[in-house]
Amino acid sequence: MFKVMKVKLFNIDESPTHFEFQFTRENLQKLEERYQFQTMECVATLTKKQEFIELKGTYRVRIKTFCDLCLVPVSTELDESFLIGLISENDQKIPEGDLELSLNSFETDCYQGEEIDLITYFEDQLILDLPLAVTCSEDCKGLCSVCGTNRNESNCNCLDESSSSPFAVLKDLKPD
Ligand SMILES: [Zn+2]
Ligand SMILES: [Zn+2]
Repeated sequence: MFKVMKVKLFNIDESPTHFEFQFTRENLQKLEERYQFQTMECVATLTKKQEFIELKGTYRVRIKTFCDLCLVPVSTELDESFLIGLISENDQKIPEGDLELSLNSFETDCYQGEEIDLITYFEDQLILDLPLAVTCSEDCKGLCSVCGTNRNESNCNCLDESSSSPFAVLKDLKPD
């Protein structure tokens, strides 16, 4: 087990090699600001195949974010694994025959030069694995659109026009 995030191609061969590493939030560029975490624990297994490099990844991370509806902090744990085929960007050859057959069961991505920067693939995968909607509970009542009260905690006396009429939003946009 090696502890590196960037793997030189000559360290990868036909027998699977494991790389273990972890990184912090600051290492990621593409992940939306609203998703925070302390550390993401990763294991990558790289195997050289005939025309590509197979990357098996597993990772674990506790994501901290906010409920989409009422904005209270929520956290969710992701414990995922993935499999992708890495093709050299210099390899202009059109995949055909065996390569196509062996790759069509999983996703592919590219790498540049003589080094594989593992963090990119783990970040992309994390973004894919994030839930589309994050809520504090299945029946979160959200915030009152008039006074901003968290309806899970208390009731206010505002008339909720937003749920009764689709035109309520338009009304809010009109000047007084
Ligand atoms: Zn909520
Ligand atoms: Zn209210």
